[in-house]
Amino acid sequence: MSGLTLQNVTKQFGTFTAVRNVALTVPHGTFVCLLGPSGCGKTTLMRMVAGLDLPTEGEIRLDDKDITNVPTHKRDLGMVFQSLALFPHLTVGENIAYSLRIRGAGKDEQKKRVDELLSMIHLSGYADRPVAKLSGGQRQRVAIARALAISPKLFLLDEPLSALDAKLREAMQVELRQLQQRLGITTIVVTHDQREAMTMADTVVVMNGGEIRQAAPPVDIYRRPADTFVADFIGMTNLLDFKADGTGATVLGASIPGLVVPNGLASGIVSVRPEDVHLTVPGNAPITGTVIFIRDLGGTIETFVEAAGKQIVAVSVPNARPDVAVGQSVGIALDPADCVVLKS
Ligand code: ATP
Repeated sequence: MSGLTLQNVTKQFGTFTAVRNVALTVPHGTFVCLLGPSGCGKTTLMRMVAGLDLPTEGEIRLDDKDITNVPTHKRDLGMVFQSLALFPHLTVGENIAYSLRIRGAGKDEQKKRVDELLSMIHLSGYADRPVAKLSGGQRQRVAIARALAISPKLFLLDEPLSALDAKLREAMQVELRQLQQRLGITTIVVTHDQREAMTMADTVVVMNGGEIRQAAPPVDIYRRPADTFVADFIGMTNLLDFKADGTGATVLGASIPGLVVPNGLASGIVSVRPEDVHLTVPGNAPITGTVIFIRDLGGTIETFVEAAGKQIVAVSVPNARPDVAVGQSVGIALDPADCVVLKS
């Protein structure tokens, strides 16, 4: 298969297992984000793909070729790291042409490629500027262009946007995704920013404790989280105990008919996203609670409700603002289709 395949990849540092038995397929031309909390093994996994670390066990294949033990410079990679590591004494053009020059490309070829890449990153005419005179976002784009100069088979970026301020980071996420789609280059990005992962990726790989907890398209990760870790890590959610009953399951002391519980499961946890918690007048819904706090963020309103001894949150947009006040009783309606039964 063309693209990248990891088979049972494990990395141990002494007795500590940083990456455990990872299996992952990244089809050619797709964009994957490795996402997870600090220390979950994202960078270690990326370093093995880059050839900067060797796996303790397992195999890494690129375009059906075993590259597990192939040195970094023979892997056809473009890499961008957080520090960027641009050469400060060189111009933009010299930075971008660097790897072409050491591969022996002629002056004309270098210039043609630099012009092409500068146009791609919207910096045409910047070739002769010293990189020291660029803004943070411009430097970021030059680092990306430099990594792409050799037309790599695989494009690897480790927290590439984390040094930028929030607005610029969001703009660069869109730019990076558009560039990747135009080039059709297989890309892997390490990030701990879930919004960044959701913006850019075809597949979000959520890691914890050195393991992949779920690898799926962003919407599936959000709407159909596999387990409590993923549900809790991605966005806000309500994790509620359930007990299977005759027609579905009991949640917050009320029966939710139609809630599909996997065979043989007597109890467990469901995830219900706050936008799927519907507040209504008491008596109009099976669950009753008391409003304990309202957070109005302008674009969204978060209403915190206590029900059956548990705190849950409902989110609504301003034109669907629930007509409630702190201390008031409310009815809570849950659609069984919005209750996702989790693996524990
Ligand atoms: P962050 O988001 O903080 O960069 P990460 O998910 O990228 O975290 P890694 O850098 O892959 O995490 O580290 C995973 C675990 O492996 C951590 O507990 C780290 O301390 C450990 N680790 C990483 N490199 C080494 C090493 N060379 N020797 C020993 N332990 C290491």
